This record gives sequence, C-alpha cells and structure tokens, in this order.
Amino acid sequence: MSNKNVCRMCQSPNMTKFLDLGFAPPSDNFLTKEQLNNEEAQYPLNVHICNDCGLCQLGYVVPPELMFNENYPYESSMTKTGSSHFISMAIEICKKFNLMPDSMVIDIGSNVGVLLSGFKSQGMRVLGVEPSSNVAKIAIKNGIDTISEFFSSKLALKICQQKGNASVITGTNVFAHIDDLNDFVKAADVLLTEEGIIVIEAPYLVNMLDNLEYDTIYHEHLSYLSMKPMVKFFKRFRMDVFDAEMQSIHGGSLRYFIGREGKRPISKHISEFLLLEEKKKIYSEERLKNFSEDVKNHRNELNTLLSNLKKQGKKIVGVSAPAKGNTLLNYCKIGTEILDYITERSNLKIGKYTPGMHIPVYSDDMLIKDKPDYALILAWNFAEEIMRNNEQYRSKGGKFIVPIPHPHII
Ligand code: SAH
Ligand code: ZN
Repeated sequence: MSNKNVCRMCQSPNMTKFLDLGFAPPSDNFLTKEQLNNEEAQYPLNVHICNDCGLCQLGYVVPPELMFNENYPYESSMTKTGSSHFISMAIEICKKFNLMPDSMVIDIGSNVGVLLSGFKSQGMRVLGVEPSSNVAKIAIKNGIDTISEFFSSKLALKICQQKGNASVITGTNVFAHIDDLNDFVKAADVLLTEEGIIVIEAPYLVNMLDNLEYDTIYHEHLSYLSMKPMVKFFKRFRMDVFDAEMQSIHGGSLRYFIGREGKRPISKHISEFLLLEEKKKIYSEERLKNFSEDVKNHRNELNTLLSNLKKQGKKIVGVSAPAKGNTLLNYCKIGTEILDYITERSNLKIGKYTPGMHIPVYSDDMLIKDKPDYALILAWNFAEEIMRNNEQYRSKGGKFIVPIPHPHII
C-alpha cells in the first residue's frame, strides 16, 4: 500500500526509524511448487517509534488482502499451549465481569474459533469476524458463527442491526494488525453495550525489546503495543484502559481491558505498567538504537553457530514454520544450504515452501525418519511443546537449537 508518514494512533509526523530489516515477502505467504517460478513481491520491513505518543510501528503497510485471504496458514488451534490459553481466557473473562448467560461476545480475528468455543461453553452467544476465509470455514464447521469479512464500522452497524449489542469484544493478536485504528474503535463503539468491554491482547513491546524477539516483526504486525500509547489513544474516544494483565503467551503478551470512560475504577496495574515502561526506557532513542545493534549481533551469532555446525558436516533442519521464522530466515539469509527442510504439524503449510528463502516444509515425521543432527526451533514461543511432541527425535540423539533471545543448543 504505502509508506506511513504519520503515527497510526496520534497522527503525529514526528516519528524516528530505529530498525531496518531490509525487504521481505509477507511472512505467512507460503508458496506452492508452481509459485516458486513467479517473482515474489518484497516489501520494506522497518520500524519507527512515534515521539509523541510512543507507539512503535512499521513504516510500510502491505495491503491486508494480500495477507489475510483464503490461503492464510495460521490456525490458533495448532498448539495445546495456545488452545488452553484461549479457553482459560474465556473462562477468566466470564468470571471477572460476571457475564450473564447469553451475553453476546464478538471476537475480531477469530481465526478457527478457539477463544469463542471457550465462551460458548460458558453459555455465551458468540460471533466471530474473520476475513481469512479458509480458517473462517473451519470455525463454522466447528459450530462457531463467523462472518468472513474485515472488521469495520460498516460491518459493525450491520451486525448490530441483526444481532444486537455485544457485552464483550475480544481481539487477540489482531489489533496490532489493523491500520485504521480509528475505524476499529468506531466499530467497537457501535457494537458495545453501555457497560461493555473490549479485551485486547498482543505481544508486549517491553518483552520484545528485553528478549530480542525481533522475529515477531513482520508485515502483519503493524503495531508493537505498549501501555502509554494505548491509554492516550483510547482516551481520545472517551474510553479507559481500566485494567491490564501480563500473559506468558507469545514471548510475553499484555492483555488490556477497555471500557467507556468512568464506568469502572482504574486499576493500579495501569500506572505500574506505565512505570515499568519508564524504567525500561522503551521510548528512548538510545534504548531502541541498542536493540537495533543487538539485532545485528544476533544475526552474526546465529549465522556463526549454524555455519560452524555445517563445517563439522552436521545436518540441520528447522522444526515448525511460523511467520516469525520467516522474518528470522529472511533477515539472516538462512536458506537450503543451511536448513535442508523444515518440519511442521499444520496441513496448511506442509508441502509448501517458505516465503523468501524457499525452504521446503515437510511433516514432523521426517525428523524421526531422517534423523538430522540438529533441529532449529523457529516457533521458540512454543519450544517446550515442540520438544515434547518430538521427544522421539531427541531420545534418538537429535538436538534442538532455540534461536531467541540467544542461539543455544538443548
Ligand atoms: N485471534 C487469533 C488469531 C490471530 S492471527 C489468535 O490470537 O490466535 C490474526 C487473525 O486476524 C487472522 O486470522 C487474520 O485473518 C485476522 N485479521 C487480520 N486483519 C483483520 C481485520 N481487519 N479484521 C478482522 N480480522 C482480521
Ligand atoms: Zn503517535
């Protein structure tokens, strides 16, 4: 689409670029064998900080239809860790807000419907909004009412007329994917009851910086959220971020609770997170420049480790092919000369090739059949579960490499 010249939250032009990961294809655009012959579109991947509100964001916006369509390969049901996280989240929200049975819950970016299935078993009415039609179909097949469209204020009006207002609107790992946030809030405002709440969850910028999680930077993730810009942004719409909770999922996520202004007391957690952000200096140019240096050093460190193993004649493959893995592989230029292939559980990825580096994706069984010496875990956020699933590989002498925050062998 275009370069972004003003901040998506406060419209300030006062932004500083602090990280440049070069050009990359969209991280979830896995290719079929035939598509390998076509030229692959690559887009700039660089990160800016808004010096006015503090929102960390990409400098370039790829049209969403190029990423969220019938070929979207991510299913949030793929890991047990993820599924149980979302089921617990539904139970916790029902309890925390004393939701009456039959209350309406709308999930934005509902994917295959894991979170909503949790709400449904708690007796809530549920509706998903999910533009990627392949995953929306899976949700519908599993009995989760889903509209396969991008969320917008226009759609919100339609939903409101047909189904009434929502007590809860959830958006996990999707708010940061949306360019027009004004319209998101406008839509939420149309849908929410007077006492209704919005729950947003996304990886926390503090953790991304502390743990060098730079591979979570890809074109789908337009914003890298933190408390300071969130509070300021919602204030503008007369809404309060009234509570927040740290969650361990995806390398450390923050769950934000938002309601209409003055409806609920503001928890002390808000000022605690604001203080933490000050202490960690996450908005300072110096801290961000350091992060950027650390990213370059990480690339050297990982490439040195892998090329040393290759020099010793070792066979290395990848295990799991998440979107973040493609940022890592493209930025570090790790191709088939290092990783023979990558293994996966998801049928939406097996048989395809990774965007950019074109590494073939096979089923996890290959690890057992082929017994490579090392397996690089690209979905390091699910490393424990991946190692458990592939215990047989390890018991036969296979070793795992976890790349983030620093490459290490297990
Ligand atoms: N909520 C799930 C899925 C996250 S992946 C989870 O937390 O695991 C992001 C999802 O948001 C994808 O399924 C994508 O298709 C969807 N999405 C992207 N842009 C969207 C938009 N503008 N409106 C609604 N959904 C969107
Ligand atoms: Zn801003």
